[in-house]
Amino acid sequence: MTSMSPKILISACLLGRPVRYDGRGKPLHDPLIERWKTEDRLVGFCPEQAGGLPTPRPPAEIEGGMNGDDVLAGRARVLEVTGGDVTAEFIEGGRQTVAFARAQDCRFALLIDGSPSCGSGFIYDGSFSGTRHPGFGVTAALMRQAGIEVFSNQQLDRLAARVDCTA
Ligand code: SF4
Repeated sequence: MTSMSPKILISACLLGRPVRYDGRGKPLHDPLIERWKTEDRLVGFCPEQAGGLPTPRPPAEIEGGMNGDDVLAGRARVLEVTGGDVTAEFIEGGRQTVAFARAQDCRFALLIDGSPSCGSGFIYDGSFSGTRHPGFGVTAALMRQAGIEVFSNQQLDRLAARVDCTA
């Protein structure tokens, strides 16, 4: 191990921190996570909390089957199931995540899939009916724009391959 080892920004809920909308965490149990913890590679962060949202909070989805890029371009909003517009908080949280990742020298991000912030493979379509579609959230979009490689919790092996070849 050297100080050059690339760091990984990880969704705080994947570390088990109780930051999700329902006030719970969603810890990811995997030997790779344990290894990266001992290597001091993981840096936890929650975009929605950073954007100023409380915990717990109403679940939110990107409207109209659209994506994080559409939110950033002003074509879609992020709406709570209760009708509140949390677009500004989601964008602010994503910007703070990028700033934090840069400050911590994170070249990679491991973000939980399905979230309107952190999702990178699928998200929900805005109908609050549990309907998924291929897509990505606001933070995932901003991280990609910033050149940070984003992986979902379904892509641990791919991330490990990238980390090992840049270590
Ligand atoms: S914003 Fe990301 S890190 Fe925060 S609770 Fe949602 S999925 Fe987890």
